Amino acid sequence: MPMSVLVSPATPLDLRSDTVTRPSTAMRQAMALAEVGDDVLDGDPTTAALEAWTAAALGKERALFFPSGSMANQAAIWVHTTPGTEVLCDAESHVYHWEIAGAAALCGVQCRPVRGESAVFRAADLRAHIRTPSIHAPEPSLVCLENTHNGAGGVVTSVEEMRDIQAVAREHALPVHLDGARLWNAATALQRPLAHLAACADSVMVSFSKGLGAPVGACLAGSADIITRAHRVRKRFGGGMRQSGVLAAAALHAAQHHYDRLAEDHASARYLAQVVDGAGRARVVAPDTNIVMIDLPQPRAAAVVARARERGVRLTEWHPARIRAVTHLDAPAGAVAEAAALLRQTLEEVLA
Ligand SMILES: *Cc1c(COP(=O)(O)O)cnc(C)c1O
Repeated sequence: MPMSVLVSPATPLDLRSDTVTRPSTAMRQAMALAEVGDDVLDGDPTTAALEAWTAAALGKERALFFPSGSMANQAAIWVHTTPGTEVLCDAESHVYHWEIAGAAALCGVQCRPVRGESAVFRAADLRAHIRTPSIHAPEPSLVCLENTHNGAGGVVTSVEEMRDIQAVAREHALPVHLDGARLWNAATALQRPLAHLAACADSVMVSFSKGLGAPVGACLAGSADIITRAHRVRKRFGGGMRQSGVLAAAALHAAQHHYDRLAEDHASARYLAQVVDGAGRARVVAPDTNIVMIDLPQPRAAAVVARARERGVRLTEWHPARIRAVTHLDAPAGAVAEAAALLRQTLEEVLA
């Protein structure tokens, strides 16, 4: 057996998330040299450059920089809805599970979780969840999509399926918001331009701090009218940033240098899935992108995560019987291969 050289307790590999990446030297250089101004007063040139780049890449009129994807999602919900209405979103979506009921607390709307037969809801599932108008029931105001879908394991929704969903939304005059924190991964897997996916929604959030590896930041893109209103609510949420060019430079660097390499993360995820599948009767959801979900035959995720950590492989306990591993910029293929072998052993031991 070959000696482990890349992954050990002293040199762990962190596969908990693609948010763990650290800014590279070149990225830090871009940040240090960024031209800046006061973005709240009269504009920051590097932030403006990032916003223009993002709007063009997504095929939207305008884009607006946000400190986080969560704030951008909440601003979009605020723009599209009125209090007392409901947002139709996937039952396992980020806006429903991981934004601490922001839609309710900040926008006064309720989330209506949509669940379908497949991992991510489809057009027919959405149709089945749109209520017959009644003075006793909340009116729907927005459809929220997530692509790739994190909770389902980085699952990609095709452009055609997104168009079908958009068509159902339009029949009911509902706007569509796309949580595209990992839209980069979806476009890579589908080999389609980002704009084809973005065209299926009125507003789109993309994150720079997931697979692209920037330290922080997201953009919301849409029509000039949507972005003007989002700008006002960003201020209200406390998201006005001054010399934000330092952060925008990192995001711009990430988009221009790290987008092209995402297919490597997808290949590493497929390799990891192949090695681990079946170990200790665990079942791996075949990954579309960079997220690998490992389903255990018993609720022993905490024990597997703890044992893997002792060996230098860091993972997330998603549910008591589900573990998540995510490949990224700071997880080279060779290290992922070693981690896969270590994880296989760990599953066999813990689940024996
Ligand atoms: C990470 C994530 C967000 C939120 O982004 P933050 O910048 O961490 O607030 C939103 N949606 C999805 C699908 C995500 O994975």
